[in-house]
Amino acid sequence: MSTSFDSVLIANRGEIALRIMRAARDLGIRTIAVHSAADADLRHVALADQKLCIGPAQSKDSYLSIERLLQAAELTGAQAIHPGYGFLAENAKFAEAVTNSGRVFIGPSAEAIRLMGDKVSAKQAMLAAGVPCVPGSPGALPDSPDEIHAIADRCGYPLIVKASGGGGGRGMRIVRHSSELLEAVAMTKEEAGRAFGNPEAYLERFLEHPRHIEIQVLADAHGNAVWLGERDCSMQRRHQKIIEEAPAIGIDRERLNVVGERCAEACKRIGYQGAGTFEFLYEDGEFFFIEMNTRVQVEHPVTELVTEVDIVAEQFKIAAGLPLSFGQEDVKLQGHAIECRINAEDPYSFHPAPGKVTQWISPSGPGIRVDSHLYSGYVVPPHYDSLVAKFLAYGATREEAIRRMRGALADASLEGIKSNIPLHQELMGESSFVEGGFDIHHLETYLAGRG
Ligand code: ADP
Repeated sequence: MSTSFDSVLIANRGEIALRIMRAARDLGIRTIAVHSAADADLRHVALADQKLCIGPAQSKDSYLSIERLLQAAELTGAQAIHPGYGFLAENAKFAEAVTNSGRVFIGPSAEAIRLMGDKVSAKQAMLAAGVPCVPGSPGALPDSPDEIHAIADRCGYPLIVKASGGGGGRGMRIVRHSSELLEAVAMTKEEAGRAFGNPEAYLERFLEHPRHIEIQVLADAHGNAVWLGERDCSMQRRHQKIIEEAPAIGIDRERLNVVGERCAEACKRIGYQGAGTFEFLYEDGEFFFIEMNTRVQVEHPVTELVTEVDIVAEQFKIAAGLPLSFGQEDVKLQGHAIECRINAEDPYSFHPAPGKVTQWISPSGPGIRVDSHLYSGYVVPPHYDSLVAKFLAYGATREEAIRRMRGALADASLEGIKSNIPLHQELMGESSFVEGGFDIHHLETYLAGRG
């Protein structure tokens, strides 16, 4: 690949750091792993061309320190930085600092991150691009109680009050009666000011039984944008996805095509560059945009399996200024893919379960892909996210993908720490999952019934 950079610093850890390293290696880009003191034994650190410890275990002084990451880039001569997901991936200041230091940020511009990071401005940009949004207040709520009530009445109850700067499932309140409205707005604003440094709040209609459907996009620096189909990520616990699949079953393809095209169009309008995901709630045949993620997602491999597009490699190429090598007409969805997120946690209480992996045997075989940094003897540190592996099963049909996933879960051997493999085994046999098309509350309802 002829690029403006031939080295990349991977500003992340775990499975995604390894995934990024592999994509870079395929493209002939020199890889630089940076890690905290707790992460010297990470798999990608051993495999990268160069490695550097950038700080103590606490993320704030290592993976979240813009200063240390830039120092590391300086020291190692890194010409580009890939942020992965989480940590600083959606931090506009970081993107700006990387660019200002004369390096390439593998992701969209700081302006695009800022625009989409603020939920009110994101929603306005999407409405302008004709992307369907949840009916709600046109912008941030005014101060006048009468006006707030008038907006709420126009939306209809139940409602959800959301903080413009919110994220990670925080800063939201459901309101079922108008008598609760003003207090909920006041509390959300107060909390949002404290937690996100931005007291703006807005209203949306609360959807009772939506599915979570998201659209993957890629957009280059030359005004080209494509969408790579959708993912169904409705299997969630506390807003955390645990199983994802592509395509989403039981959704009218024509409707989906319209929404996908609008997403690609929106990318062009806002000058978006890189990989991104438009998240929607889907209810009664309609799509409602809720937010955009301006980075690679944990669940990107399900899309890679059904489209045969290497999303991380595309991120590198786009950042290097290359035009997309394919158009929308070349994007063909084939077969079905399912991802199970394997977390180091108790499968019943969900408490994190870090510790030493005494044995790890990865599943394999036809249609199986495993993205993981695990190896026998690896010690899962207690400081970070508990995701330790992603099992992916691909099949010509959804049934085949499920059968293969069952096999993979049975074949895997993860000893020494607890994991949620037993929960995935249960879910792969559960009738609602097998039938498909369940809503975002399904898993919590199921877990409550499990006792
Ligand atoms: P965050 O940035 O905190 O993840 P989102 O806007 O993506 O916030 O919403 C997180 C979750 O909250 C959604 O996945 C969905 O489960 C729920 N949610 C958000 N908006 C609505 C809504 N209008 N109606 C029903 N549920 C909603």
